[in-house]
Amino acid sequence: MTQSNSNSSTTPSRQRIVVIGGGFAGLNFIKRLKKQNYEVILVDSNNFNSFPPLFYQVASSGLEPASISFPFRRELRKRGFNRNVRYNMGRVKTIHLDRKVVVTQFEELSYDKLVIAAGTTNNFFGMNELEKSVYTLKSTAEAIRCRNDILDRLEHASMLSDPKKRRELLTFVVVGGGPTGVEIAGALGEMKKYVLKREYPTIDIDDMSITIVEGADRVLRTMSEDSSTHAAKYLSTLLVDVKLGQNVKSYVDGTVELTDGSKMNAGMVIWTAGVKAVGFDVKGGSLPITRGGRIEVDGFNKVVGLDDIYALGDICFMTADKAFPQGHPQLAQVAIQQGANLAKNLNRKPSKQPKQFVYNDKGSMATVGRNRAVVELKHMQINGFMAWLTWMFVHLMSLLGMRNKVVVLCNWLWAYFTYGTSLRLLIHPSKYPLRKRWEEI
Ligand SMILES: Cc1cc2nc3c(=O)[nH]c(=O)nc-3n(C[C@H](O)[C@H](O)[C@H](O)COP(=O)(O)OP(=O)(O)OC[C@H]3O[C@@H](n4cnc5c(N)ncnc54)[C@H](O)[C@@H]3O)c2cc1C
Repeated sequence: MTQSNSNSSTTPSRQRIVVIGGGFAGLNFIKRLKKQNYEVILVDSNNFNSFPPLFYQVASSGLEPASISFPFRRELRKRGFNRNVRYNMGRVKTIHLDRKVVVTQFEELSYDKLVIAAGTTNNFFGMNELEKSVYTLKSTAEAIRCRNDILDRLEHASMLSDPKKRRELLTFVVVGGGPTGVEIAGALGEMKKYVLKREYPTIDIDDMSITIVEGADRVLRTMSEDSSTHAAKYLSTLLVDVKLGQNVKSYVDGTVELTDGSKMNAGMVIWTAGVKAVGFDVKGGSLPITRGGRIEVDGFNKVVGLDDIYALGDICFMTADKAFPQGHPQLAQVAIQQGANLAKNLNRKPSKQPKQFVYNDKGSMATVGRNRAVVELKHMQINGFMAWLTWMFVHLMSLLGMRNKVVVLCNWLWAYFTYGTSLRLLIHPSKYPLRKRWEEI
């Protein structure tokens, strides 16, 4: 473990801010901070910023992982990299509140101010054994794992003559009918409806089944009933079944048991049902942890009861914003706006009052398949093709890097007109033999 050059601030007059996590919140905070006033160190376990809203497209072979990722070193170069901002790779495991130090697997880093923006991880609601058997979409690596196993199953099934075995392999259960669940199920539906016949002619369309299991009485329950109804209709045209009012109780030996006791076969379970905040081993004090493992902050994103520590985005829980007394939804816009507000507050002269965070809700959206979506903006609700164009525009604008925007747009247009993608390539790590993988699935 290193302690040298990272352990003490090089310029005594400049305070060191350590930012844990370069997602929407952490990166937007750094972008807007007046870097000449501080020495900033971003610590992230990945050396790139990723774009979770499009993980499902990586998982369904619609986009290559690189097109929704952007290297921190390039992004930070634009923002004073090598002068006042730098990136250190590492997963923060421990925070010493008394010593003002964070510890990764590689080093100890001291801070004057700490910004915690590490987001969330999968929540299995106590059924931790599921972690080993289900597929998740919380990171690029998880999305790639999901993609490889979907493709593995299709290749394997295409060689089986026994229809029962083919069906076992190609029974997909998506747990959670929120935007991610609806989006991945829709993408699988597109595969079933349009890709199977063209690329896997030995597989019958009925060999593949996709079911969403959702605990509420409708999909997309955070959106209006109208949007839910449209999404359900689009899903049914893509041959996706929806089971409402049921949660998953267990998943053992290829069988999912639901809360009403009923059972269903599931070759592959994709878990999109919930998240919890990333946790740390905290020494020399404690963080105020509340609902969903989130860190309680005041209206300025300062961690309650602690000086010089802030939490931003999905990992924090704020009740001071009048319109959101139960905390903000865990969405990209909340994280972006909180990052920007905290930077502005730290940029202010000490004599000026800091500004309390107020979330400007710009709306929500979800896409179903290749060319339909539901979109709710402040004063407007649209669905279908126009909604899909809006969804496309918003996501393209949010991606980092011009190359990524162009590549993603080309991919979407190509897929729209041809259903073709060159991304259904199955590239296994060389030390992981194919037969071993097939024995596992
Ligand atoms: C599949 C999926 C789809 C989504 N779709 C939408 C959508 O359509 N619209 C929307 O508004 N929101 C969507 N969200 C939610 C949105 O992505 C989050 O609200 C947003 O990413 C939160 O930003 P953040 O900066 O708080 O955390 P994140 O963006 O998750 O960033 C956290 C960063 O911290 C790093 N990190 C984590 N732990 C550590 C550690 N211990 N040490 C160092 N680094 C660490 C991670 O590598 C990551 O870079 C989606 C989320 C997922 C998972």
